[in-house]
Amino acid sequence: MTNPDTSFVNDTERWQRALEAAGLGVWDWNLKTNVCIYSESWCRMLGYRRSDFSETDDLFLLLIHPDDRERAIESGDRHLAGKTDGIETELRLQHKAGHWVWVLDRGAVIERDEDGNPVRVIGVQTDITQQKQVERDTSLVNERFRLALTAAEIGIWHFDVARGRSFWDAKTCEIFGLDTISKEIDGDTWHTFLHPEDRHEAETKHFQALSEKSEVKVRYRIVRQDGEIRHLETLAKSVPNQGGAGYLVGTIRDVTAEVEAARALQTEKERYEITLGAINDAVVSTDVDGVINFANPSAATMFSMNEQDLIGTNVDSILQGKGKIRSVQSGKQSGFNDDVVLEIDGSFYRCRRNPILDTAGERIGQVYTSHDITSDYNRRQQLAYAAHHDSLTGLYNRVAFDDALEEAIQQAGEARLAIFYLDLDHFKALNDFAGHAAGDKALKAIAEGITALLPEGAFFARLGGDEFAILLTDYDRTSAENLATETIAAVRDVSLSCAVNGPRLGCSIGIFVIDDASIGASDALARADDACYAAKSAGRNRHAFFIENGSTRTSGLSAAREVADLTEALEDQRLILFGQEIRSLQRPNEQCGRLEILARLKARDGRIVGPGAFIPAAERFGMAAMLDRWIIRKALSEHGQRLSSVNLKLGFNLSAQTLCDPTLWPFVKEVAEENCTPLSQIAFEITETAAVSCFETAELFVRSARRHGCTVSLDDFGSGLSSFDYLRRFPVSCIKIDGAFVEKIVDSNVDRAIIASIMELARNLGFDVVAEKIENEKVVTRLRQLGVAYGQGFHLHKPEPLDDIIARRSVENGRMAAGIAVVGS
Ligand code: C2E
Ligand code: CA
Ligand code: CA
Repeated sequence: MTNPDTSFVNDTERWQRALEAAGLGVWDWNLKTNVCIYSESWCRMLGYRRSDFSETDDLFLLLIHPDDRERAIESGDRHLAGKTDGIETELRLQHKAGHWVWVLDRGAVIERDEDGNPVRVIGVQTDITQQKQVERDTSLVNERFRLALTAAEIGIWHFDVARGRSFWDAKTCEIFGLDTISKEIDGDTWHTFLHPEDRHEAETKHFQALSEKSEVKVRYRIVRQDGEIRHLETLAKSVPNQGGAGYLVGTIRDVTAEVEAARALQTEKERYEITLGAINDAVVSTDVDGVINFANPSAATMFSMNEQDLIGTNVDSILQGKGKIRSVQSGKQSGFNDDVVLEIDGSFYRCRRNPILDTAGERIGQVYTSHDITSDYNRRQQLAYAAHHDSLTGLYNRVAFDDALEEAIQQAGEARLAIFYLDLDHFKALNDFAGHAAGDKALKAIAEGITALLPEGAFFARLGGDEFAILLTDYDRTSAENLATETIAAVRDVSLSCAVNGPRLGCSIGIFVIDDASIGASDALARADDACYAAKSAGRNRHAFFIENGSTRTSGLSAAREVADLTEALEDQRLILFGQEIRSLQRPNEQCGRLEILARLKARDGRIVGPGAFIPAAERFGMAAMLDRWIIRKALSEHGQRLSSVNLKLGFNLSAQTLCDPTLWPFVKEVAEENCTPLSQIAFEITETAAVSCFETAELFVRSARRHGCTVSLDDFGSGLSSFDYLRRFPVSCIKIDGAFVEKIVDSNVDRAIIASIMELARNLGFDVVAEKIENEKVVTRLRQLGVAYGQGFHLHKPEPLDDIIARRSVENGRMAAGIAVVGS
């Protein structure tokens, strides 16, 4: 390379300075010498000093990036060949620090020889690294933007206001159902697609974006050329251009699927809301923290809050504030678990809690549903109550008593338990006489009266009918006896206050003290029952203790067992008939032809058991009628035929059940006929208690019997009821004064007075009178003085087997007949 001439140098220097000041690197290539000079500024651009290089180095080829080399040379060659006006190429040169510097290389031939061949080329290189970087960044942004648009399926468009032309990209075209290539179209095209109903709004909004320079978003429908309707969403913004009317640029998105999904969701939501609004179940949903975000009208009613107030409130605070958990169904102990019965303001709800899970299975909240079960719950409570209570008195019932007794026996430990078995006397009579309402009233009053007497911890139950039981958990004899006495008094007081003109109620109490923990509840109760019968047999209105091998009861068996025994005894012919004569008190040593039949039972061990031991049980278990009929049939079938010839009238005791059977009279008649027994040889003894329990039937029977010549006596007269009244109703022919008045007649003025008044009555009404239980001669004398004609008692005749009596009478009668024959012959 040679130095250029000086004039040029000066000139060049000036330019070089200017170029360097502008930061441009200059090169000057002499084609004849093939030397290229690089300016100091060029060297600096690449981090070098000019002195770093030798004069001859072809710096350009030394520093250029291998990838750019060919392109750069080619660009130069083309220019030299006259194909281009200048050299213009971008290339990379290596900086002294090693990195690449992008330069824009521009140059041109500035000198040619006579033939026009280029001899000198000058060029400038500008550092465009930064610009290149910006370009790269921009292209990156653009690429991202493009990708985003593609992914979001967003089209872009702009409208050139001045030209009235629109540019739609491929996506926009596709959205409108056109070819999928971007194109410029007439500005009116867009309008032709608009759905008539949405046209106005869409146009107004676009115009607004343009006129107000604001960004608008609008949804509208288009009708594609094939008629399909699509929903679109456009975001449009006006962009000014210098001097021009500007552009409206925007994005466009097909939101048809979105709109349809939203509409479907809305429909679904409405359906749910209508459903939830209509159902009676309360539904509340909450977020994970239990804050309510939905509540239906039933929930509002349930909590007595309006739906708006419920929303935003914590469900637990409401439940704790208003609800009481009644029962937990899921087996968990406490808290609002998955299935509970909740009480709110007296209403009951079955509540369930279910988690709300998102698609990944994460809990995002919970939903509570509550079903009003108030009526069901109350009904069940009532049933549960009814299952253990007596509806009339409100006392516990038999089931409850059995349970309580069983439990008490198991847990008794050292404590002594006692059972009272209470049986009202004459309750049936009261019922029949004064009506069921009076009976119910009396039962209630008795329940209340006894309840008031009970010590703490006592368990009082009505077992059924007129039977009650008390379980005492802390027994001692004195207080138990006191309680029994007070209880009997309470029943009597109730009876008085009832003020019914009928039989007076009484009460018999059996007491069983449990001292053996191994006894079953039913056995224990049966023993108390047993003792109660003992009390009854001993004359009612009293109590009796159960004693094993007992003095209270000969058998010591429970009533039920006795009945079983009785049935067996009948089958085994172990029931035997005794008789006790009735005598004239004028001639007490002679027989007078009247006999009372008394039943006896021969126990397996041969003992003779009196009727007190089995008749109450037979009555209790409804076997008394069968028993009496059995006795009547047996007596008449064995002796009926002979009764006239031996001049004997048999008197049968009738229990209430027997007397209350309307077929009794036909039965008697039939048996009498079968056994050729004149009805005049038959007598009946009825008690007032039995008679009042079926007034009409009893009356009918008595009348029939009397009409046919039977004697009917009112037994145990004076022992209980307000007797004189009955005498008017029952056309009996005889009364038997209760032994209780007779036995003390010698000492008791009162008893004598009573008997005297009975005699007065009997004379007026025309009854026979028989005094019972005559045990000595003094009594006979007294009775005679009072005018009593007949008597009965151990002093006159001790009961003996009927067979023996009849046999004896047959013999005597035979003798008598023979005597007459001898006398007459
Ligand atoms: P009742 O009808 O008052 O019978 C009289 C009872 O007094 C009999 O007792 C008799 O043995 C008893 N007795 C008689 N004289 C005396 C005496 O001087 N002193 C004492 N202490 N007692 C005397 P029994 O046989 O034990 O009968 C008791 C009750 O059983 C009878 O009372 C009667 O109500 C009933 N009974 C007896 N046999 C039958 C029957 O076949 N059917 C029915 N339904 N009841 C019967
Ligand atoms: Ca009798
Ligand atoms: Ca009697």
